[in-house]
Amino acid sequence: TGLRIDVVTIFPDYLAPLELSLAGKARDKGLIDIRVHDLRQWAHDRHHTVDDTPYGGGAGMVMKPEPWGEAFDALLDHEGDDRPTVVFTTPSGQPFTQAVARELAGKERIVFACGRYEGIDQRVIDEVATRAEVREISLGDYVLNGGEVAALAITEAVVRLVPGFMGNASSLVEESHEDGLLEYPVFTKPSSWRGLEVPPVLLSGDHAAIAAWRRDQAVRRTAERRPDLVSAPSLFDDLEIRPAL
Ligand code: SAM
Repeated sequence: TGLRIDVVTIFPDYLAPLELSLAGKARDKGLIDIRVHDLRQWAHDRHHTVDDTPYGGGAGMVMKPEPWGEAFDALLDHEGDDRPTVVFTTPSGQPFTQAVARELAGKERIVFACGRYEGIDQRVIDEVATRAEVREISLGDYVLNGGEVAALAITEAVVRLVPGFMGNASSLVEESHEDGLLEYPVFTKPSSWRGLEVPPVLLSGDHAAIAAWRRDQAVRRTAERRPDLVSAPSLFDDLEIRPAL
């Protein structure tokens, strides 16, 4: 029955947008079940402490292992056939891409562990790896204050790939990154706006010409903006431009 997502964080309110946008819709349709958990419920001292100073010294604090251990004890007791997938959001992880989103969309069960401070005690990750599939994923090459925004972004990208979520499946296939190309520019009415005209081919009704124009635009854009996305430079052979590969 769909995809179950649990998010463990010390800032549950940060995940409120999941209730709104796209993910809220998928939840209403019963395609996904998202639950957000406050890590501090598994910290039992009076102040619900989740961090401590790093062994070996250095700046900042490190998330303690015990609350995380208990969180996973509570959340990984799942009877399904699939091993649950635990996603640790971290700038040292595998960069998040559409391909990773596709993989995650095929899972039954994902638990996001949102780090804060200088990160989570390494033993938490090592211990969870003995009972779940661990993925360490980075949103990109920059440092956020916590993993919440990364968990949100990953969830939004994954949820829209869950079968039945998007009304129109073909709009998924044509998107940026699905075919390894950036998307061509799009236009709507009016055909003339502030002296700017929609490319005439799009008004021509010639479907083959439109498809060719879109393909050409997608290849050009990709060559100019993201030549790193293209593994086969021969794609650019028809164009006058030479991407900086
Ligand atoms: N000292 C850590 C380092 O350089 O790897 C950075 C810790 S960061 C301030 C706190 C938390 O934010 C991390 O544990 C991680 O969960 C999250 N975070 C920061 N940048 C991220 C990124 N690019 N992708 C995913 N999570 C990130």
